[in-house]
Amino acid sequence: MALLKIRKFPDPALKQPASPVCNIDGKLTNLIDSMVQTMYAAPGVGLAAPQVGEPHRIVVLDTDHENPGKKLLKLINPKVVEAEGEVIWEEGCLSVIDYTADVKRAAKVLVRAWTPAQNEIEIEADDLLAVALQHEIDHLDGKLFIDRISRIKRELYRRKLTKLIKEGKADEDRPSGVRI
Ligand SMILES: [Zn+2]
Repeated sequence: MALLKIRKFPDPALKQPASPVCNIDGKLTNLIDSMVQTMYAAPGVGLAAPQVGEPHRIVVLDTDHENPGKKLLKLINPKVVEAEGEVIWEEGCLSVIDYTADVKRAAKVLVRAWTPAQNEIEIEADDLLAVALQHEIDHLDGKLFIDRISRIKRELYRRKLTKLIKEGKADEDRPSGVRI
């Protein structure tokens, strides 16, 4: 199984809203398995299909890398159906190199999704899982966490990134906090 290439900001694939999945075939099952491997290898807490250039509403998540697989979620067409409270979390992203920022999210969410075995499930989440679910679902809507910070902060990040690219340092692997 090949690891997939993770697209990095400002790749246009990250801006494109993903389409709902109507039919789970062998090709999509293979994509999901490759996404899981890619997420663990990165390592990241979650990965959404648009991050690997696939415009489908699919995300994989695992908040417990100490026990890989135990809490693994493979979600198709996930949707936040209820949200409450507020939490500020320092987020990083596999698609945003060398940057983290505080982002305001709902503290608790109820997410409805389909599994690869075509069962509809509901997930009640708080803490990191709630943040990660919202972050991944944002990816499906073509949104990054840097779209949720102030314009000034985003502009500063753009400048920093331009400098890194110019210096040829943009591809170096610098883990930036928890990458979702
Ligand atoms: Zn991300």
